[in-house]
Amino acid sequence: MPCYSSDKLNALVKEAKKYTAQGKVADYIPALKKENPHDLSAAIFHPDGRCISAGDVDQKITLQSISKVLTLALALMDYGEEQVFEKVGYEPTGDPFNSIVKLELYNPSKPLNPMINAGALAVTSMIKGETIENRLERILDFVQKLAGDRKIGYSQEVADSEFKTAYLNRALCYFMMEHGIIEEEVEGLLELYTKQCAIEMTCLDLARIGLVFAMDGADPFTKEPLIPRDIVRVCKTFMVTCGMYNAAGEFAVRIGIPAKSGVSGGIMGVVPNRFGIGIFGPALDEKGNSIAGLKLLEMLSEKYSLSIF
Ligand code: GLN
Repeated sequence: MPCYSSDKLNALVKEAKKYTAQGKVADYIPALKKENPHDLSAAIFHPDGRCISAGDVDQKITLQSISKVLTLALALMDYGEEQVFEKVGYEPTGDPFNSIVKLELYNPSKPLNPMINAGALAVTSMIKGETIENRLERILDFVQKLAGDRKIGYSQEVADSEFKTAYLNRALCYFMMEHGIIEEEVEGLLELYTKQCAIEMTCLDLARIGLVFAMDGADPFTKEPLIPRDIVRVCKTFMVTCGMYNAAGEFAVRIGIPAKSGVSGGIMGVVPNRFGIGIFGPALDEKGNSIAGLKLLEMLSEKYSLSIF
């Protein structure tokens, strides 16, 4: 499906790009340090197949936390809401994505929501499959179907780099193991989680996945249901309440669409019944969201009245 460079989107990207100077690329995952902080690209996918883009849309990005919403959908498809939410809660934390502080809050203990690292690790531990490879294959197969792109894989370099330095995520896992939330060997789970976070795609693919969520789970072209509508509703709700970490409240006020960000600088935006948005801008603000990506979304939301509220 061709995607056309758009003058209007290019003008907004040019304007938003100015803000990259105020951000920093993530460095706690060493391999992400290589990203160029001045990059900004975006794509918008419409249900009729029209796709517009701006910037270098061939560049690949790793999903990082954006993957959390996709594994949540898959776990819900595997187990249903009741079983998934035995292991993870529904509530926003207002804390950074990697925070450990509220893990003891629920009684019995469980992570507050599936969009923080603790909750996402609990969700990944639910992904079915005989081996780590099988489970990764299932995640990849699902992501490829959503993006309509069978070539999607993961970056071994980024996965290895995170795996070696994932001290905090290891701590979260062991804490949850103590409380019976995680029942498998931690190193294997971390291998799967870091590979899931290292799944690579372009912002066109990301926009295409956003479109599937915008269209209630249907493949935009074949109309095949890829995710049940009810599960899409759960995912979109978490994107609104927790998708931008501890900036979700301000994001809801200023932009007002379901969205999920990752520390690679990716943002997947969902404009219900209208279009999917994929953005890549690796310079992050202090909360770990793409600083220019947020500006771009703010401009788009204002110009095209995107807020769902
Ligand atoms: N892989 C990253 C981590 O667990 C994802 C975090 C993010 O994108 N906010 O730290």
